[in-house]
Amino acid sequence: MVDLLPAQSHSWQKVESIALEHFSRAGLQEIRTPIIEQTELFSRSIGENTDVVGKEMYNFEDRGGRSCTLRPEGTASVARSIVQHGLLNNGPQRLWYQGPMFRYERPQAGRQRQFHQIGVEFVGLASVMSEAEVISIAWDFLNDVGLNDLTLELNSLGSNEDRNVFKEELKNWLNQRFDLLDEDSQKRIKVNPLRILDSKNNSTKELLTEAPSLSDFLSDESKTRFDYLQELLDNLDIPYKINNNLVRGLDYYSHTAFEITSDHLGSQATVCGGGRYDSLIGELGGPETASIGWAIGMERLIILAGDNILNTKSPDFYVIHRGEKAEKIALNISRKLRKANLRIDLDYSGSSFSKQFKRADKSRAKWAIVIGDDEVSKGQLLIKKLRDNAEGERSEEYIFLRDGLDKLAEKLIDK
Ligand code: ATP
Ligand code: MG
Repeated sequence: MVDLLPAQSHSWQKVESIALEHFSRAGLQEIRTPIIEQTELFSRSIGENTDVVGKEMYNFEDRGGRSCTLRPEGTASVARSIVQHGLLNNGPQRLWYQGPMFRYERPQAGRQRQFHQIGVEFVGLASVMSEAEVISIAWDFLNDVGLNDLTLELNSLGSNEDRNVFKEELKNWLNQRFDLLDEDSQKRIKVNPLRILDSKNNSTKELLTEAPSLSDFLSDESKTRFDYLQELLDNLDIPYKINNNLVRGLDYYSHTAFEITSDHLGSQATVCGGGRYDSLIGELGGPETASIGWAIGMERLIILAGDNILNTKSPDFYVIHRGEKAEKIALNISRKLRKANLRIDLDYSGSSFSKQFKRADKSRAKWAIVIGDDEVSKGQLLIKKLRDNAEGERSEEYIFLRDGLDKLAEKLIDK
């Protein structure tokens, strides 16, 4: 498990505020579900034979003898909550969520045992248009965060019927080449043959270039849907790449599946994964309900956003002060300016002016407000620009205190 340290939390807050803003503008509402669910929720919805349920979940028995699980993803919980509270009686639900998820995986860059997802779910919407909208919300959000060197990969998994026919065909083909497969893939043939298409093993990958393709097994209806989605994305100027081997790890997907990937993440290349899941709500005891959604991994997003995001979080003013009278004014003026929505760092050290100036520089504030007892007795304070201008000078000016702190605050806000 990983701590989020103060140096990193700024970027997280920034991403979260962009998310809130972005999703509100798209008319989505937030849903917050518990971190612990009954194990059965995940084994039924995600599927017994997936990696997540088979190998990665944190399960425990509570004091009442119930099998509980730290949620490994958000969609199943959101679906459960929608069914439990009859939210569909109010019409289709367009929701977003965020929070920690837990999977017992081998930790490495971009892969943790507690990680965080931001996700979107459109529940009760069957149209291809809703798919284009869901994808564009992900694409534009990632753009808002400053990521633009990304690839959208797209596939159609067809209907359940299309997929079942294909699965049998694929199984036969793989069984004929059983000895050529890596060990993991050999195990998967029986339980989850589609997942083999997603294998990271090089010789298996090579072999699979000859394998039957799901795209040849799509019904006319599935094909028409997929073609129309591409037309809508073209219309939105969102570039994509068709990847017929993109199957996604969870059982509940059908028709559209997509991932957004980056070349800058090493082998943990996927930032966002999503797709249509029309049978999940029914599976959980609700009415048959067409749905589509995605989840973005926050850690990977933050790695990619890097300093683009960080740079924007520096204070407007750093308040430097020395002496008892100065201290009182410093506290007061900081509070006033914060109420006026300015970002203020206040020095608490009482150390020399030169040390406080060093800290002010380090804070990357735009201005320092300097209050010494000397200034106070003259009824003024000094503001000094901390970033050099082109000539290497730091402009400074005195502002009078005698008009009162409110007036002073107004002048500083103008800066
Ligand atoms: P991967 O193939 O990388 O294991 P996945 O298919 O298991 O991904 P999803 O279940 O689709 O992932 O989750 C959506 C996103 O959540 C991923 O694209 C990734 O960004 C992030 N994610 C998934 N597992 C982890 C993890 N263990 N640590 C950090 N981020 C993760
Ligand atoms: Mg995984």
